[in-house]
Amino acid sequence: MAVSPAEPEIPTFVSHLECSATGETFPPDRLYNLSPAGKPLLVRYDLDALRRHFSRELLAARPMELWRYREMLPVRRSENVIRLGEPVTPLLRLSRLERELEVGAPLLVKDEARLPTGSFKARGLALAVSMARELGVTHMAMPTNGNAGAALSAYCARAGIGASVWCPADTPEINIAEMMVQGAEVHRIDGLIDDCGKLAAAACAEHGWFDTSTLKEPYRIEGKKTMGIELAEQLGWRLPDLIFYPTGGGTGLIGMWKAFQELEAIGLTGSARPRMVAVQAAGCAPIVRAFEEGVEHAPRWENAHTVAAGIRVPRAIGDFLILRAVRQSGGFAIAVEDEAIMRARDEVARSEGLLLCPEGAATMAAYRQALSEGRIGRDQSAVLFNCASGLKYLR
Ligand SMILES: *Cc1c(COP(=O)(O)O)cnc(C)c1O
Repeated sequence: MAVSPAEPEIPTFVSHLECSATGETFPPDRLYNLSPAGKPLLVRYDLDALRRHFSRELLAARPMELWRYREMLPVRRSENVIRLGEPVTPLLRLSRLERELEVGAPLLVKDEARLPTGSFKARGLALAVSMARELGVTHMAMPTNGNAGAALSAYCARAGIGASVWCPADTPEINIAEMMVQGAEVHRIDGLIDDCGKLAAAACAEHGWFDTSTLKEPYRIEGKKTMGIELAEQLGWRLPDLIFYPTGGGTGLIGMWKAFQELEAIGLTGSARPRMVAVQAAGCAPIVRAFEEGVEHAPRWENAHTVAAGIRVPRAIGDFLILRAVRQSGGFAIAVEDEAIMRARDEVARSEGLLLCPEGAATMAAYRQALSEGRIGRDQSAVLFNCASGLKYLR
Protein backbone atom coordinates (compact mmCIF):
# COMPACT_ATOMS: atom_id res chain seq x y z
CA MET A 1 0.00 0.00 0.00
CA ALA A 2 1.25 3.44 -0.85
CA VAL A 3 2.32 5.44 2.14
CA SER A 4 2.09 9.19 1.94
CA PRO A 5 5.45 10.87 2.36
CA ALA A 6 6.25 12.23 5.79
CA GLU A 7 5.26 15.86 6.14
CA PRO A 8 8.17 18.23 6.34
CA GLU A 9 8.83 19.48 9.84
CA ILE A 10 7.82 23.09 10.21
CA PRO A 11 9.46 25.10 12.95
CA THR A 12 7.29 26.40 15.75
CA PHE A 13 8.02 29.55 17.65
CA VAL A 14 6.35 29.08 21.04
CA SER A 15 8.51 30.76 23.67
CA HIS A 16 6.40 30.41 26.82
CA LEU A 17 2.94 30.53 28.33
CA GLU A 18 1.70 33.54 30.23
CA CYS A 19 -1.02 34.08 32.83
CA SER A 20 -3.59 36.38 31.25
CA ALA A 21 -4.18 38.12 34.58
CA THR A 22 -0.77 38.37 36.30
CA GLY A 23 1.67 38.04 33.40
CA GLU A 24 3.52 35.25 35.24
CA THR A 25 5.36 33.06 32.72
CA PHE A 26 5.66 29.28 32.38
CA PRO A 27 7.82 26.99 30.23
CA PRO A 28 6.21 25.49 27.10
CA ASP A 29 5.76 21.81 26.21
CA ARG A 30 3.98 20.82 29.41
CA LEU A 31 0.39 20.09 30.20
CA TYR A 32 -1.43 23.05 31.74
CA ASN A 33 -4.91 24.00 32.84
CA LEU A 34 -5.42 27.37 34.58
CA SER A 35 -2.57 29.45 35.98
CA PRO A 36 -1.92 29.38 39.75
CA ALA A 37 -4.02 32.59 39.88
CA GLY A 38 -6.94 30.56 38.49
CA LYS A 39 -6.93 32.44 35.16
CA PRO A 40 -6.48 31.38 31.52
CA LEU A 41 -2.96 30.84 30.21
CA LEU A 42 -2.03 32.32 26.83
CA VAL A 43 0.57 30.92 24.44
CA ARG A 44 3.32 33.38 23.56
CA TYR A 45 5.64 33.22 20.56
CA ASP A 46 9.08 34.54 19.67
CA LEU A 47 7.57 37.20 17.44
CA ASP A 48 10.92 38.55 16.23
CA ALA A 49 11.94 35.13 14.95
CA LEU A 50 8.48 34.61 13.53
CA ARG A 51 8.69 37.94 11.74
CA ARG A 52 11.92 36.87 10.05
CA HIS A 53 10.67 33.42 9.11
CA PHE A 54 6.98 33.77 8.26
CA SER A 55 5.76 35.62 5.20
CA ARG A 56 2.89 36.03 2.77
CA GLU A 57 5.05 34.35 0.12
CA LEU A 58 5.60 31.27 2.28
CA LEU A 59 1.84 30.87 2.56
CA ALA A 60 1.26 31.11 -1.17
CA ALA A 61 2.52 27.56 -1.76
CA ARG A 62 0.44 25.89 0.93
CA PRO A 63 -2.96 24.18 0.83
CA MET A 64 -5.96 26.30 1.81
CA GLU A 65 -6.45 24.77 5.23
CA LEU A 66 -6.08 25.66 8.89
CA TRP A 67 -2.60 24.18 9.20
CA ARG A 68 -1.17 26.59 6.63
CA TYR A 69 -0.54 28.84 9.64
CA ARG A 70 1.57 26.22 11.44
CA GLU A 71 4.30 28.64 12.49
CA MET A 72 1.75 30.68 14.43
CA LEU A 73 0.44 27.55 16.17
CA PRO A 74 1.92 25.54 19.04
CA VAL A 75 2.17 21.93 17.74
CA ARG A 76 5.83 21.01 17.42
CA ARG A 77 5.81 17.69 15.58
CA SER A 78 3.84 17.00 12.40
CA GLU A 79 3.10 13.43 13.50
CA ASN A 80 0.90 14.88 16.26
CA VAL A 81 -1.27 17.01 13.98
CA ILE A 82 -4.79 15.55 14.00
CA ARG A 83 -6.63 16.39 10.77
CA LEU A 84 -10.18 15.91 9.63
CA GLY A 85 -9.73 18.28 6.69
CA GLU A 86 -10.12 21.85 8.02
CA PRO A 87 -10.68 24.15 5.04
CA VAL A 88 -10.21 27.90 4.95
CA THR A 89 -13.88 28.85 5.26
CA PRO A 90 -15.54 31.09 2.65
CA LEU A 91 -16.38 34.75 3.10
CA LEU A 92 -19.77 35.30 1.48
CA ARG A 93 -21.08 38.72 0.57
CA LEU A 94 -24.71 39.53 1.37
CA SER A 95 -25.24 41.81 -1.63
CA ARG A 96 -29.01 41.79 -1.61
CA LEU A 97 -29.15 42.73 2.07
CA GLU A 98 -26.53 45.42 1.50
CA ARG A 99 -28.85 47.02 -1.05
CA GLU A 100 -31.92 46.61 1.11
CA LEU A 101 -30.21 48.13 4.16
CA GLU A 102 -28.57 50.82 1.99
CA VAL A 103 -25.14 49.78 3.15
CA GLY A 104 -22.22 51.12 1.14
CA ALA A 105 -19.52 48.71 2.30
CA PRO A 106 -19.19 44.94 2.13
CA LEU A 107 -21.37 42.94 4.51
CA LEU A 108 -19.78 39.50 4.74
CA VAL A 109 -20.50 36.20 6.44
CA LYS A 110 -17.60 33.97 7.39
CA ASP A 111 -19.23 30.59 6.99
CA GLU A 112 -17.77 28.30 9.60
CA ALA A 113 -20.40 25.66 8.89
CA ARG A 114 -17.97 24.09 6.40
CA LEU A 115 -15.59 22.85 9.07
CA PRO A 116 -15.47 19.20 10.24
CA THR A 117 -18.32 18.42 12.68
CA GLY A 118 -20.21 21.38 11.19
CA SER A 119 -19.03 24.07 13.57
CA PHE A 120 -16.06 26.28 14.34
CA LYS A 121 -15.49 24.31 17.52
CA ALA A 122 -13.42 22.10 15.19
CA ARG A 123 -10.73 24.79 15.07
CA GLY A 124 -10.22 24.85 18.82
CA LEU A 125 -10.47 21.13 19.31
CA ALA A 126 -8.14 20.33 16.39
CA LEU A 127 -5.47 22.25 18.27
CA ALA A 128 -6.37 21.07 21.76
CA VAL A 129 -6.44 17.40 20.77
CA SER A 130 -3.24 17.66 18.70
CA MET A 131 -1.46 19.26 21.67
CA ALA A 132 -2.94 16.67 24.02
CA ARG A 133 -1.49 13.95 21.83
CA GLU A 134 1.87 15.72 21.75
CA LEU A 135 1.84 15.92 25.55
CA GLY A 136 0.77 12.31 26.16
CA VAL A 137 -2.86 12.76 27.25
CA THR A 138 -5.00 9.58 27.06
CA HIS A 139 -8.45 10.89 28.08
CA MET A 140 -10.08 14.30 27.69
CA ALA A 141 -13.21 15.67 29.34
CA MET A 142 -15.34 18.81 29.00
CA PRO A 143 -18.70 20.44 29.61
CA THR A 144 -20.50 21.37 26.38
CA ASN A 145 -23.62 22.96 24.92
CA GLY A 146 -23.24 20.50 22.05
CA ASN A 147 -20.86 21.58 19.30
CA ALA A 148 -17.69 21.55 21.38
CA GLY A 149 -18.47 18.03 22.58
CA ALA A 150 -19.16 16.92 19.02
CA ALA A 151 -15.79 18.29 17.89
CA LEU A 152 -13.98 16.85 20.90
CA SER A 153 -15.39 13.38 20.29
CA ALA A 154 -14.48 13.48 16.60
CA TYR A 155 -10.89 14.63 17.09
CA CYS A 156 -10.38 12.30 20.05
CA ALA A 157 -11.65 9.35 18.01
CA ARG A 158 -9.20 10.31 15.28
CA ALA A 159 -6.35 10.61 17.79
CA GLY A 160 -7.16 7.45 19.73
CA ILE A 161 -7.83 9.45 22.90
CA GLY A 162 -10.81 8.80 25.21
CA ALA A 163 -13.51 11.49 25.56
CA SER A 164 -16.13 12.22 28.23
CA VAL A 165 -18.63 15.08 28.01
CA TRP A 166 -21.26 16.64 30.27
CA CYS A 167 -24.08 18.60 28.63
CA PRO A 168 -27.40 20.18 29.66
CA ALA A 169 -30.31 17.75 29.22
CA ASP A 170 -31.86 20.02 26.57
CA THR A 171 -28.75 20.08 24.35
CA PRO A 172 -29.81 19.68 20.68
CA GLU A 173 -30.42 15.98 19.96
CA ILE A 174 -28.22 16.14 16.89
CA ASN A 175 -25.25 17.08 19.07
CA ILE A 176 -25.97 14.27 21.52
CA ALA A 177 -26.12 11.83 18.59
CA GLU A 178 -22.87 13.15 17.11
CA MET A 179 -21.07 12.70 20.42
CA MET A 180 -22.39 9.21 21.01
CA VAL A 181 -21.78 7.91 17.50
CA GLN A 182 -18.23 9.29 17.67
CA GLY A 183 -17.60 7.25 20.78
CA ALA A 184 -17.70 9.78 23.61
CA GLU A 185 -19.08 8.98 27.04
CA VAL A 186 -22.03 11.41 27.30
CA HIS A 187 -23.67 12.63 30.53
CA ARG A 188 -26.89 14.65 30.26
CA ILE A 189 -27.30 16.94 33.24
CA ASP A 190 -30.23 18.81 34.74
CA GLY A 191 -28.42 22.15 34.74
CA LEU A 192 -26.51 24.66 32.59
CA ILE A 193 -23.03 24.47 31.15
CA ASP A 194 -21.34 25.84 34.27
CA ASP A 195 -23.00 23.08 36.32
CA CYS A 196 -21.68 20.60 33.78
CA GLY A 197 -18.23 22.13 34.17
CA LYS A 198 -18.17 21.28 37.87
CA LEU A 199 -18.97 17.63 37.14
CA ALA A 200 -16.34 17.45 34.40
CA ALA A 201 -13.74 18.95 36.76
CA ALA A 202 -14.63 16.46 39.48
CA ALA A 203 -14.30 13.52 37.07
CA CYS A 204 -10.93 14.85 35.88
CA ALA A 205 -9.70 15.07 39.48
CA GLU A 206 -10.92 11.56 40.20
CA HIS A 207 -9.63 9.79 37.07
CA GLY A 208 -6.63 11.92 36.09
CA TRP A 209 -8.34 13.01 32.84
CA PHE A 210 -7.42 16.22 31.07
CA ASP A 211 -9.93 19.06 31.54
CA THR A 212 -10.53 20.62 28.11
CA SER A 213 -13.11 23.23 29.22
CA THR A 214 -13.19 26.55 27.35
CA LEU A 215 -10.12 28.62 28.32
CA LYS A 216 -9.17 26.15 31.07
CA GLU A 217 -6.52 24.80 28.73
CA PRO A 218 -4.37 27.09 26.58
CA TYR A 219 -4.70 25.63 23.07
CA ARG A 220 -8.33 25.86 21.97
CA ILE A 221 -7.87 29.61 21.76
CA GLU A 222 -4.89 29.09 19.43
CA GLY A 223 -7.14 27.11 17.11
CA LYS A 224 -9.84 29.78 17.18
CA LYS A 225 -7.14 32.35 16.48
CA THR A 226 -6.91 31.00 12.94
CA MET A 227 -10.27 32.69 12.18
CA GLY A 228 -8.52 36.04 12.55
CA ILE A 229 -5.51 35.03 10.47
CA GLU A 230 -7.71 33.61 7.70
CA LEU A 231 -9.86 36.71 7.66
CA ALA A 232 -6.80 38.93 7.29
CA GLU A 233 -5.38 36.81 4.48
CA GLN A 234 -8.72 36.56 2.66
CA LEU A 235 -9.12 40.34 2.75
CA GLY A 236 -5.63 40.97 1.36
CA TRP A 237 -4.10 41.52 4.81
CA ARG A 238 -6.52 44.34 5.60
CA LEU A 239 -9.00 43.81 8.40
CA PRO A 240 -12.68 44.76 8.21
CA ASP A 241 -14.07 47.74 10.14
CA LEU A 242 -16.38 45.58 12.25
CA ILE A 243 -16.55 41.99 13.47
CA PHE A 244 -19.81 40.65 14.93
CA TYR A 245 -19.11 37.57 17.02
CA PRO A 246 -21.70 35.42 18.84
CA THR A 247 -20.15 35.29 22.27
CA GLY A 248 -20.48 32.42 24.70
CA GLY A 249 -17.20 31.56 26.41
CA GLY A 250 -15.58 34.08 24.09
CA THR A 251 -12.72 31.90 22.84
CA GLY A 252 -13.12 33.09 19.27
CA LEU A 253 -13.30 36.78 20.10
CA ILE A 254 -10.28 36.59 22.40
CA GLY A 255 -8.47 34.38 19.89
CA MET A 256 -9.05 36.74 16.97
CA TRP A 257 -7.93 39.73 19.00
CA LYS A 258 -4.75 37.80 19.85
CA ALA A 259 -4.28 36.98 16.16
CA PHE A 260 -4.54 40.65 15.21
CA GLN A 261 -1.89 41.61 17.78
CA GLU A 262 0.45 38.88 16.55
CA LEU A 263 -0.14 39.67 12.85
CA GLU A 264 0.72 43.31 13.42
CA ALA A 265 3.79 42.40 15.50
CA ILE A 266 5.16 40.19 12.73
CA GLY A 267 4.42 42.76 10.06
CA LEU A 268 1.68 40.94 8.15
CA THR A 269 -0.93 43.61 8.80
CA GLY A 270 -0.89 47.27 9.73
CA SER A 271 -2.15 48.74 12.97
CA ALA A 272 -5.79 49.22 11.91
CA ARG A 273 -7.97 46.77 13.78
CA PRO A 274 -11.67 46.03 13.61
CA ARG A 275 -14.15 47.11 16.27
CA MET A 276 -15.07 43.86 18.00
CA VAL A 277 -18.78 43.46 18.69
CA ALA A 278 -19.75 40.77 21.22
CA VAL A 279 -23.24 39.52 20.38
CA GLN A 280 -25.35 37.79 23.02
CA ALA A 281 -28.96 36.70 23.37
CA ALA A 282 -31.20 38.91 25.52
CA GLY A 283 -32.00 35.85 27.66
CA CYS A 284 -28.33 35.32 28.52
CA ALA A 285 -26.26 38.49 28.26
CA PRO A 286 -23.72 38.65 31.10
CA ILE A 287 -21.05 40.27 28.92
CA VAL A 288 -23.45 42.93 27.62
CA ARG A 289 -24.50 43.80 31.16
CA ALA A 290 -20.88 44.05 32.34
CA PHE A 291 -19.96 46.12 29.29
CA GLU A 292 -22.76 48.56 29.97
CA GLU A 293 -21.95 48.78 33.67
CA GLY A 294 -18.30 49.48 32.85
CA VAL A 295 -17.01 46.65 35.02
CA GLU A 296 -14.22 44.16 34.32
CA HIS A 297 -15.95 40.93 35.32
CA ALA A 298 -19.37 39.55 34.42
CA PRO A 299 -21.31 37.92 37.27
CA ARG A 300 -23.39 34.80 36.53
CA TRP A 301 -26.58 35.42 34.53
CA GLU A 302 -29.44 33.67 36.33
CA ASN A 303 -32.20 31.75 34.50
CA ALA A 304 -30.34 31.83 31.21
CA HIS A 305 -32.48 30.93 28.20
CA THR A 306 -32.24 31.39 24.43
CA VAL A 307 -32.79 29.47 21.19
CA ALA A 308 -29.11 30.03 20.48
CA ALA A 309 -27.76 27.18 22.62
CA GLY A 310 -24.12 27.84 21.66
CA ILE A 311 -24.16 31.21 23.40
CA ARG A 312 -26.14 30.12 26.46
CA VAL A 313 -23.15 30.59 28.75
CA PRO A 314 -24.17 32.26 32.03
CA ARG A 315 -20.61 32.77 33.24
CA ALA A 316 -17.36 32.96 31.27
CA ILE A 317 -13.97 32.43 32.88
CA GLY A 318 -12.47 34.70 30.23
CA ASP A 319 -14.99 37.50 30.86
CA PHE A 320 -12.27 40.08 31.53
CA LEU A 321 -10.44 39.12 28.33
CA ILE A 322 -13.60 39.45 26.22
CA LEU A 323 -14.42 42.83 27.79
CA ARG A 324 -10.84 44.03 27.40
CA ALA A 325 -10.75 43.14 23.68
CA VAL A 326 -14.14 44.72 23.04
CA ARG A 327 -13.16 47.96 24.82
CA GLN A 328 -9.63 48.18 23.40
CA SER A 329 -11.06 47.79 19.92
CA GLY A 330 -13.61 50.55 20.40
CA GLY A 331 -16.35 47.98 19.92
CA PHE A 332 -19.35 47.15 22.07
CA ALA A 333 -21.49 44.31 23.38
CA ILE A 334 -25.10 43.99 22.23
CA ALA A 335 -28.02 41.72 23.10
CA VAL A 336 -30.71 40.54 20.68
CA GLU A 337 -34.09 38.93 21.35
CA ASP A 338 -34.75 35.34 20.23
CA GLU A 339 -37.51 36.63 17.97
CA ALA A 340 -35.07 38.89 16.14
CA ILE A 341 -32.65 35.97 15.84
CA MET A 342 -35.21 33.75 14.13
CA ARG A 343 -36.39 36.60 11.89
CA ALA A 344 -32.79 37.24 10.82
CA ARG A 345 -32.29 33.54 10.09
CA ASP A 346 -35.34 33.44 7.81
CA GLU A 347 -34.39 36.70 6.14
CA VAL A 348 -30.85 35.61 5.25
CA ALA A 349 -32.07 32.17 4.15
CA ARG A 350 -34.71 33.64 1.81
CA SER A 351 -32.76 36.53 0.38
CA GLU A 352 -29.29 35.00 0.18
CA GLY A 353 -29.77 31.23 0.19
CA LEU A 354 -27.63 30.91 3.26
CA LEU A 355 -28.99 28.91 6.17
CA LEU A 356 -27.44 30.33 9.34
CA CYS A 357 -27.39 28.65 12.73
CA PRO A 358 -29.25 30.62 15.44
CA GLU A 359 -25.97 31.98 16.85
CA GLY A 360 -24.92 33.14 13.38
CA ALA A 361 -28.36 34.65 12.85
CA ALA A 362 -27.88 36.54 16.13
CA THR A 363 -24.98 38.42 14.53
CA MET A 364 -27.22 39.48 11.64
CA ALA A 365 -29.91 40.60 14.08
CA ALA A 366 -27.27 42.53 16.03
CA TYR A 367 -25.92 44.12 12.85
CA ARG A 368 -29.39 45.37 11.92
CA GLN A 369 -30.03 46.63 15.45
CA ALA A 370 -26.66 48.41 15.67
CA LEU A 371 -27.29 50.03 12.29
CA SER A 372 -30.72 51.31 13.26
CA GLU A 373 -29.39 52.61 16.59
CA GLY A 374 -26.56 54.45 14.82
CA ARG A 375 -23.86 52.53 16.69
CA ILE A 376 -22.20 51.59 13.39
CA GLY A 377 -21.99 53.36 10.05
CA ARG A 378 -23.39 52.32 6.69
CA ASP A 379 -19.93 52.92 5.21
CA GLN A 380 -18.22 50.39 7.48
CA SER A 381 -17.36 46.91 6.27
CA ALA A 382 -18.54 44.14 8.56
CA VAL A 383 -17.93 40.43 9.01
CA LEU A 384 -20.61 38.30 10.70
CA PHE A 385 -19.69 34.86 12.01
CA ASN A 386 -21.89 31.92 11.14
CA CYS A 387 -20.35 29.49 13.55
CA ALA A 388 -22.22 26.26 12.81
CA SER A 389 -24.28 24.57 10.15
CA GLY A 390 -27.91 25.68 10.07
CA LEU A 391 -28.76 22.08 9.21
CA LYS A 392 -28.09 21.08 12.81
CA TYR A 393 -31.01 23.19 13.99
CA LEU A 394 -33.81 22.32 11.56
CA ARG A 395 -36.51 20.36 13.29
C1 LIG B 1 -19.53 27.63 20.99
C2 LIG B 1 -20.40 28.33 20.09
C3 LIG B 1 -20.48 29.73 20.11
C4 LIG B 1 -19.69 30.58 21.07
O1 LIG B 1 -18.31 30.53 20.82
P1 LIG B 1 -17.25 31.05 21.88
O2 LIG B 1 -16.02 31.30 21.11
O3 LIG B 1 -17.09 29.98 22.90
O4 LIG B 1 -17.79 32.29 22.50
C5 LIG B 1 -21.32 30.34 19.20
N1 LIG B 1 -22.05 29.63 18.33
C6 LIG B 1 -22.00 28.29 18.26
C7 LIG B 1 -22.83 27.57 17.25
C8 LIG B 1 -21.17 27.59 19.13
O5 LIG B 1 -21.11 26.26 19.07
